[in-house]
Amino acid sequence: MEVKDVANNISEVLFTEEQLYARLDELAAEIDAEYEGKEPPVLVGILRGSVPVTYELAKRLKTNVRFDWVAISSYQDSMTSTGKFLIEKDITLNLQGKNVIVVDDIYDTGDTLLWMKGRIKDAGATNVDLFALLEKPEVHKHSFKPKYVGFEVPNKFVVGFGLDFRQQYRHLRAICVLSPHVYEQ
Ligand code: 5GP
Ligand code: MG
Repeated sequence: MEVKDVANNISEVLFTEEQLYARLDELAAEIDAEYEGKEPPVLVGILRGSVPVTYELAKRLKTNVRFDWVAISSYQDSMTSTGKFLIEKDITLNLQGKNVIVVDDIYDTGDTLLWMKGRIKDAGATNVDLFALLEKPEVHKHSFKPKYVGFEVPNKFVVGFGLDFRQQYRHLRAICVLSPHVYEQ
């Protein structure tokens, strides 16, 4: 889906598909350099928002990663975070002794990535790095910094490239600010 297809509901284009791909080229090169000569990491994508970024990142890697996916839901299904999660689909690979990169679409409060890092450590991973395509520095509740970050964004509700509003807009090619009239109605 293109921006023009939903132009009435978009107030700003933050990153075009080309800009996102160019940044993913750089991040993939960093990961390849990090893992050169080492056992390839396991990418754990957080469903559903990280599907496009996990796939587009992995396509660009030379290192032969494995994938796993987890689905979690925040206790409160809204546009904010509570810090408590329910597991809807758990990890299936054995992560004992593995290097893992957790991939998410956006680091907002940080509750999701912090909680996932703990769970993956509990699953026996040797090392857990965090990858967030976007981060909203104004909203962070924690002081950790993911090892890999695509872009910083302002504290506005964004959609596209995996990020949804009520399960829509995930397939929008660009990352855009959703017009407030869409969720204020
Ligand atoms: P955190 O746990 O860091 O507060 O939030 C992370 C999750 O909140 C993301 O995986 C995403 O699902 C959701 N989220 C946070 N900010 C936004 C946003 O601007 N747009 C969308 N679509 N989801 C967001
Ligand atoms: Mg999410």
